[in-house]
Amino acid sequence: MSATLLAGPPAAAALLEDARARASRLARVPQLVLVRVGDDPASVSYVAGKQKKARETGLQSHVHVLPEQTTQAELLALLTALNADPEVNGILVQLPLPGHIDEKAVLDAVHPSKDVDGFHPVNVGRLWSGPQGAGQPGLAPCTPQGIMALLDFYGLEVAGKRAVIAGRSQLVGRPLAGLLLNADATVTLAHSRTADLAAVTREADFLFVAVGRAHLITPEMVKPGAVVIDVGINRLEREGQKTRLVGDVHPDVAQVASALSPVPGGVGPLTIAQLLANTVRAAEVQAAGQL
Ligand code: NAP
Repeated sequence: MSATLLAGPPAAAALLEDARARASRLARVPQLVLVRVGDDPASVSYVAGKQKKARETGLQSHVHVLPEQTTQAELLALLTALNADPEVNGILVQLPLPGHIDEKAVLDAVHPSKDVDGFHPVNVGRLWSGPQGAGQPGLAPCTPQGIMALLDFYGLEVAGKRAVIAGRSQLVGRPLAGLLLNADATVTLAHSRTADLAAVTREADFLFVAVGRAHLITPEMVKPGAVVIDVGINRLEREGQKTRLVGDVHPDVAQVASALSPVPGGVGPLTIAQLLANTVRAAEVQAAGQL
C-alpha cells in the first residue's frame, strides 16, 4: 500500500477562501492584532508570516511590538485597551513571552470573544462542554482545528472511529481530543508515561502524532489502512548540509497507512489559515452580540 498524501496547501486555500467569503458579508473588515514582546527570532518570523497571510486574505492586521523589558502590568494594560476597542476583533499574543512575564496571566487577560488562539479558560471550557455551534460560540486552538479542516477537506470521517493522539499538550493534543470527541470519534490520549505506546497506536483508525520526536512512529506501530496525521516539526542537522525539517512519523509509514500528512506541507499551512478563520469567526460572533 502507498498512502494518499494529505497535502496541506489546497486545504488551507479552501479554508482561507471560506474565511474571505464570510468576512465579505460583515459590515466591517475584521481586524487581527498581533502582540510581540522582544525580538526572539522565531517569534519575529511567525508574527511576520501571520501578518502577511492576514493581508493576503483581505483582513486588517496590526502588530504591537513591545521591548523585551516590558513589564507584565504594561502588557496587561495594552490587552485591556485592545479588549475595549470595538475595531479589534482578534488578539494574539505571540509565545513564548520573556521569563519575567506570567504567560497564563496574560493569556487569561485576552477577552474570550477575541481569543483567536483559543487558550482562554472560558474557550477551553466551551470546547469541552459539547460540539461547537450548539449554542456555544467558542474559539478553539488553531492547530487542532486546522487538523479537523484537513480531514474535512479530504472527506475523512472520524465519527465512530478509534482516534489515538500521541501528545497531550494544551496547544495540540488536549484540544484535538475535545474536537474529535465532539465529532463522535472514540478518543485515546497517549503521552510520555503511556506504557507500550505501540500497542495503543496500533489500535488507531486515525493516528495523530504531536510529540516533537523525529520519526518516533514507525510502520509496525500503525494499523494497516490507518489515517496518520503528523503534527511534529523537528529540525534535523546534517553535517555540511542544510537543516532538514522532518515530522514525528517515519516516511516508511506510507507503506502501511491509507493516508498520511507530509512534513513540511501538511498540518503547518492549516494553522495560520485557521488563525484567520478564527478572526472572522470572532468578528461574526461579536457582530451577533453572542459573547
Ligand atoms: P509539547 O508541549 O512538548 O508536548 C509534547 C507531548 O508529547 C507531551 O504531552 C509529552 O508527554 C508527549 N511525549 C513526549 N515524549 C513522548 C513519547 N516518547 N511517547 C509519547 N508521548 C510523548 O509539544 P507541542 O507543543 O504539543 O508540539 C508537538 C509537536 O508538534 C512539536 O514538534 C511541535 O513543533 C509541533 N507543532 C506543530 C504545529 C504545526 O502547525 N504544524 C503546531 C504546534 C506544534 P507528557 O505530557 O507526558 O510530557
